[in-house]
Amino acid sequence: MDFDLSEDQRALQDLCYKLGGDFDDVYWNSIDQEKRPPLDFWQLLADQGLLGMTIPEEYGGSGLGLLDLCIATEALSEVGAGDGTSAFVAGPVFGGYLISRGGTPAQKDEILPALVNGEMWAGAFTEPDSGSNVTNIKTFAERDGDDFVVRGQKMFISNLKVASRIAVLCRTAKRDEKNRMAGITLLLGRLPDDNVEYRPFKKMGTNYMDTNALFFDNYRIPAENVVGEEGNAWRLLYKVLNPERLVISAMAIGMGNYAIRKAVDYAKERSVWGKPIASHQGLQFPLAEARIQLECARLKVYEAAWLFDQGRDAGVATVMAKHAACHAALYAADRAIQTLGGAGYIADSGVERIYRNLRGTRMVPISDEMVLNTVAQHDLGMPRSY
Ligand SMILES: Cc1cc2nc3c(=O)[nH]c(=O)nc-3n(C[C@H](O)[C@H](O)[C@H](O)COP(=O)(O)OP(=O)(O)OC[C@H]3O[C@@H](n4cnc5c(N)ncnc54)[C@H](O)[C@@H]3O)c2cc1C
Repeated sequence: MDFDLSEDQRALQDLCYKLGGDFDDVYWNSIDQEKRPPLDFWQLLADQGLLGMTIPEEYGGSGLGLLDLCIATEALSEVGAGDGTSAFVAGPVFGGYLISRGGTPAQKDEILPALVNGEMWAGAFTEPDSGSNVTNIKTFAERDGDDFVVRGQKMFISNLKVASRIAVLCRTAKRDEKNRMAGITLLLGRLPDDNVEYRPFKKMGTNYMDTNALFFDNYRIPAENVVGEEGNAWRLLYKVLNPERLVISAMAIGMGNYAIRKAVDYAKERSVWGKPIASHQGLQFPLAEARIQLECARLKVYEAAWLFDQGRDAGVATVMAKHAACHAALYAADRAIQTLGGAGYIADSGVERIYRNLRGTRMVPISDEMVLNTVAQHDLGMPRSY
């Protein structure tokens, strides 16, 4: 077993430290407070070839693996970019893995080079009445000539202000209780469109991306834009869920380490009893504990990404990694706020933003409870509880 990163992986990590390091706290705080996407940062990722990292070389990408993508995401996040790295989810993960694994030759030719150049997607899966139970979706796409006509509502859909394409999960056949996953199709539409309306929510964090209630009113999508097999979207979706979960885990680990570094730097400078607060064991131990948790979680993230790259079953390893990473990172951010005291609660501290943004990872893209359901059933062999 070899735990060393390759020379290329170290170079990638160094590049990401350098690129991310050029965007400081003032930049990320203003993006957060003004609730706007970091478009210049995302363009830089595209210009440097990072958004094309996992896209096959014949379409202009670098053909690297998910492990490489996790290393890059973590490094950028660790030097402050945090949720700004969600461009990787909106582009190479949603778009790249879906199309390179399930697209037709024409879809690959058209879409993969656009993703390398920074095209962003939205993914519309969740609905008001389905939530964690995606098989319960009601949005229906009815065939009409060469098109599907989509009607329905989606919930909590992110990145609609920026996305030029949207992957919509629809029913194309009525629900069959004997096979609830059958009859669900993934359609790829263009945005903006007069028949697609959305209303942004005010939310706790992740302000770099808008999150919306979404309405389709006779939204036409050409039938040639089915991704994967009509009525059998699940087979393909499973191939994208693990990369999404792992990239978000890598992002969380970077954010946790960023918060710890801020806390340590502050504690070494801040003195209230005649010596730096860093010398108090009561502050040292929780930060040391947070570091241990983050290091262990990182190993699981890398293992799960490696399994995925080997074409092996990475499902259980991925949800374990996601759970460990997001909990460790949230604990680190919480302890960073505590270390900074009142200053940690103030918006410009940076750690307050990190904490708010990380809280969502306990729900998104898979909730803690659904992770535990998966582990109980598929790792422990216990009966399905729901
Ligand atoms: C900021 C943000 C961005 C998002 N972006 C997108 C996006 O771009 N696209 C998209 O499609 N969706 C998106 N989502 C939706 C997200 O994936 C869902 O919130 C998530 O899947 C859970 O669904 P729900 O919120 O309806 O919760 P529910 O399913 O209603 O669950 C509520 C609670 O019950 C628990 N629960 C549910 N079922 C079980 C069970 N069987 N056993 C134990 N506990 C259970 C859940 O874990 C949760 O704690 C986003 C959400 C947020 C907050």
